[in-house]
Amino acid sequence: MRPDTAPRHTAIRLAEYTPPVWLVESVALTFALDPAATRVSSEIVFALNPDRAAADGTDLVLDGEMLTLVSASIDGEAVTPAVDSKGLRLSGETLPERFTWRAEVEIAPEENKALEGLYISNGMYCTQCEAEGFRKITYFPDRPDVMTTYTVRVEGDRATCPVLLSNGERGETGELPDGRHFAVWHDPHPKPAYLFALVAGDLKKIDDRFVTASGMDVALEIWVRPGDEDKCDYAMDSLKRSMKWDEEAYGREYDLPLFMVVAVDDFNMGAMENKGLNIFNTRLVLASPETATDANYAAIESVIAHEYFHNWTGNRITCRDWFQLCLKEGLTVFRDQQFSEDMRSADVLRIKEVANLRGRQFREDAGPLAHPVRPEEYIEINNFYTATVYEKGAEVVRMLHTLVGPQTYREALDLYFVRHDGQACTIEDFAACFEATSDRDLTQFRRWWSQAGTPRIRVRMAHDAATGETALTVTQKTPATPGQADKEPLHIPFAVGFLSASGEALALDGPDGERRDTHVLELTRPSETFLFTGAPEAPVPSLLRGFSAPVILDYPHTDAEKALLLAHDSDAFNRAEASRGLALTAAQAIATGEADTVDPILPDALATALSRGGDPAFLALLLTTPGQEEIAASLAAQGRTVDPDAVYAAKTALDTAIATAAKDALIAAWHDNATPGPYSPDAASAGKRALKNTALGLLVSLPDGPARALASAQFDEARNMTDSAAALMALVRLGGPAAQAALDAFHARWKHDPLVVDKWLAMQVAVPEVDALERAKALRARDDIDWRNPNRFRSLVGAFASNHRRFHAADGSGYDFFAEQVAWLDGVNPQTAARMATAFDTWSRYDEARREKMRAAMGRILDQPGCSRDTYEIVSRLLG
Ligand SMILES: [Zn+2]
Repeated sequence: MRPDTAPRHTAIRLAEYTPPVWLVESVALTFALDPAATRVSSEIVFALNPDRAAADGTDLVLDGEMLTLVSASIDGEAVTPAVDSKGLRLSGETLPERFTWRAEVEIAPEENKALEGLYISNGMYCTQCEAEGFRKITYFPDRPDVMTTYTVRVEGDRATCPVLLSNGERGETGELPDGRHFAVWHDPHPKPAYLFALVAGDLKKIDDRFVTASGMDVALEIWVRPGDEDKCDYAMDSLKRSMKWDEEAYGREYDLPLFMVVAVDDFNMGAMENKGLNIFNTRLVLASPETATDANYAAIESVIAHEYFHNWTGNRITCRDWFQLCLKEGLTVFRDQQFSEDMRSADVLRIKEVANLRGRQFREDAGPLAHPVRPEEYIEINNFYTATVYEKGAEVVRMLHTLVGPQTYREALDLYFVRHDGQACTIEDFAACFEATSDRDLTQFRRWWSQAGTPRIRVRMAHDAATGETALTVTQKTPATPGQADKEPLHIPFAVGFLSASGEALALDGPDGERRDTHVLELTRPSETFLFTGAPEAPVPSLLRGFSAPVILDYPHTDAEKALLLAHDSDAFNRAEASRGLALTAAQAIATGEADTVDPILPDALATALSRGGDPAFLALLLTTPGQEEIAASLAAQGRTVDPDAVYAAKTALDTAIATAAKDALIAAWHDNATPGPYSPDAASAGKRALKNTALGLLVSLPDGPARALASAQFDEARNMTDSAAALMALVRLGGPAAQAALDAFHARWKHDPLVVDKWLAMQVAVPEVDALERAKALRARDDIDWRNPNRFRSLVGAFASNHRRFHAADGSGYDFFAEQVAWLDGVNPQTAARMATAFDTWSRYDEARREKMRAAMGRILDQPGCSRDTYEIVSRLLG
């Protein structure tokens, strides 16, 4: 469906890639900063590309949007190119094979609320150029396969912009007339334009240093607004650990004498890996025990590492075109996951990674926005910074790691760094390094990059008591996705083990004749059977250990077998998986009316696990029951129409049953896992707080239970944000005057801190127990909050849309509010608006009345005058 009023936008296709006609030898830029009229002068040396496609001609075509061209010349001769809203063009007929282009343009950073290109956040100039923001700064071939060196001179007002930063190394600085000054920066490493960065403003710095393995002394600087200097310790510590880890795990050293991180309030993304000058959303840099939760600390550690790791996987070796985005993102997410797994508990991290993958990527893969890890076409590339490209992309690299083993994986990456340093590459280049080092043919494996959809793996077991043979018959099938009706079988690493009926680990002889606890089978055919010997009685299979592939598993474990795995499996992931499986079965039975009460098997198993003890972080995950969205997704996967009220009832019944069975153990866990004394963000302390607060959350579901007293005490006594926010959330769920008093006290204390205000906003609209719509509307009407800021907007409107019960209210009021807000944001910030609109991607799961209301709400977004290219693409794909 495409309303007539919506603009039509054309798609860009991978198959149509051709090399750049003109290469760039060097760039020199001068910025005369001014909020309303910044002048950008460019001097670019172009050379004709000998490898260009003949059909592309030799015209000089430069990207440029929202620019006012003041002057242009070639080798000193003024020229008058043809200019339109997308860029400019000069006939190639008169161009020499090598020339110097000079141009001056004017831009207005203060009017840029889309936050792409050069803009002003809280009085500070900053840039965001990935993917195509550089074209809003000056005319340039804005594509990642044009790499060159940059020299940048930044001129600004000394009073308002005492600090002037860009990529690379510091050069000359000096004074200018009228209270202005300048700084010159030079980056010796060739880079694509999307890695360009500039920051100017009144900033304070936190200094440290790191000496690389080969002895280079690197200055580390984190730049923040005055007053935030005391919130950077953890980011700095994470940075140093990342630098060390990358040397040890990948042999990668840093390559400049300076590495800078800047924290910015208004930012569409989490963070950006600009060469030598990473720019971060404040929420991923600033942390103090009083203002940041354990989850915030973990996210800072992970994202600081991620952006730093891009220096090699993304910056030194970049993407040939944006279809290859997963080349840098999938690989770098896998690297940051490995890092976090090394810093914390690998088992706990893996369970969280998979929960995130299922919640975001499996959802994407099951709906109208499904696309391959390497998409084949797009209208707006900003719409492809997706869970599929990032998280599924990381799973694909993880599967390669599993298939070839850690040693060959390292050899393949070493080869990749040697062979492709300084180049703009493709997935084929990356895969070829694995083929060269492993002697494997990855033709079939490469389908993981090109085929969308989550494969279903069906396993059936047969045991022969006479021979002791156990046969696993495994079939794989990937469902159709938009634009891809037929799917081919994939090459899937499938890790399996076995337990005896009493729960002991069984090391069986596998198909390769080897006896192991865990066998990694390689699935390649639609259906195949694998034989194991050595089990005199029928064993209990433990399948897809460690979540060895991003697939949906179908095996008819009985509830008793799941309880056995929950209690005894040596694979921690599958212990948590058994808990999840029992929980989903129970919730589905309640939601569909097949049962009135929750089977006691899971509550009893969890009470036992809790009383036995173990790693608190792991126990917290065992006790975390599936959310409403996950229950809804599981019902939809069975082909059932989802009733949001029934899902809420099921979730409540599940939590109540667990809290009833384990009440004493939960109260004990709350008391025993207090972390008195100074706050420490380490994994062990965070694990204790996680268990304590998960216990509190479950106790909330007991009517007249102890939760109110425990939460009040915790809220009054909390000395860190983790405990404070968890207590406040519990109070909000319990409701009543005490909840409002606590919310008011919390706001009064933290209203000056935007990142804490974000938590205060989200917790009021994300819990199903409150009238979230009424609250969301009242909060949105406040004029003491800048709703154009992506963090604020997401914390209110995004959190509301994640409230399954309230967003899907039967009268459609949740959809109407949400659509109205997205339409408003689209007029300000299309990139963030389009991302928010994806909340409608599950519309087809619901009853006809809700479907119609959601489609109508989406139609209104499309119908609004000037609907952006970003939002147009997402909403029209959602509507199909
Ligand atoms: Zn990244």
